[in-house]
Amino acid sequence: MKVVLENLTKRYQSGNKKNGGEVLAVRDFNYEIPDGKLVGLLGPSGCGKSTTLNLICGLENPTEGKIYFGEDDVTDLPPENRGVGMVFQNYALYPHLTVKQNILFPLQNLKGKDRPTKEEMNEKALEAARLVQLEELMDRKPKELSGGQQQRVAIARALVKRPRVLLLDEPLSNLDARLRLQTREEIRRIQRETGITTVFVTHDQEEAMSISDEIVVMQAGVVQQIGKPQTVYDDPKNLFVAKFLGTPSINLFDGKIQSGKLMIGEEAVMDVALSDRKVTVGIRPEGFVLFDGGAMSCKLLRVEVMGRDVSIVSSHPACQADQLRSIILSENKVDEEAETVRFDLKPGKVFLFDIESGDRIEVEAHA
Ligand code: ADP
Repeated sequence: MKVVLENLTKRYQSGNKKNGGEVLAVRDFNYEIPDGKLVGLLGPSGCGKSTTLNLICGLENPTEGKIYFGEDDVTDLPPENRGVGMVFQNYALYPHLTVKQNILFPLQNLKGKDRPTKEEMNEKALEAARLVQLEELMDRKPKELSGGQQQRVAIARALVKRPRVLLLDEPLSNLDARLRLQTREEIRRIQRETGITTVFVTHDQEEAMSISDEIVVMQAGVVQQIGKPQTVYDDPKNLFVAKFLGTPSINLFDGKIQSGKLMIGEEAVMDVALSDRKVTVGIRPEGFVLFDGGAMSCKLLRVEVMGRDVSIVSSHPACQADQLRSIILSENKVDEEAETVRFDLKPGKVFLFDIESGDRIEVEAHA
């Protein structure tokens, strides 16, 4: 089922006089979430991710705008009538109930003609448990499970009523690094198997990039960019998006265009068809090519070997940070004793931004 957000806006009243006593948590959000896809809502803390999720599930009402599930306008429906399954960061399982009883709980709450028979309930609970691969653990209590297993119980409980839309709010935050990786793959598998349209909230860009069909990058309540993870990474609309995606993060420099050349410091690093102006230059770590006669020279600080790749840490007077990081294949030999390291740049990995607005300046660049 597709989910349509139309001019969705949420204002909260706040005691803070500085912002006029109002917080604009979500501003004019327009998006058609494709049917059967997994969408990652991504951004720093406070950017409006949870508020958006709570608007979709009905825990919050929008100040303006509409929400549709398919063709149904659900804007004024209470959460229990929307057909949503929710999973939160803290699992929120009932500690005194077994896995099976926890999964059965939403079905036992159904009233009247919606209430399945006991056999049907057991069947549905087993089906949900199988989906998350917990059918062997049905009689355990939550405290007898690992964090990852507890989160899978929470997912089974959200799936048992076959929701139209599944909403996950930072579901992996309480897990350790290894379980986080495992559980995110599980979520991907379960989502593929069920085909339920799923919205996943996270502040972790790698997590969102790795499992989402589409990501939505938000900042201060405003959507910055929506697209396939790789597309957004390769073609960021502005400096915020370019900085937010990618580990190690993009390297930023003060630059200028002078007579058709991109200058970083005193060095002309690339030809660009733009008139003279100042720019912010972003270069992805993988955008550097080690080359003795390279256009850009940096002071070598250290070399970190990471198996397949080598990470070269250096500095440059025009770099906005103390150090810049370039990643090259380990076949390339770096003289670790050298004072200077020279690079050419891969044009597709170099982005130019307006120094005031941070908007991307579209340009055809040539090395
Ligand atoms: P995120 O999930 O991205 O961390 P939230 O959606 O929780 O962000 O919050 C977005 C903004 O709205 C923040 O500035 C937050 O302080 C504010 N906010 C969230 N809930 C409320 C509320 N109930 N009352 C007032 N302000 C709120």
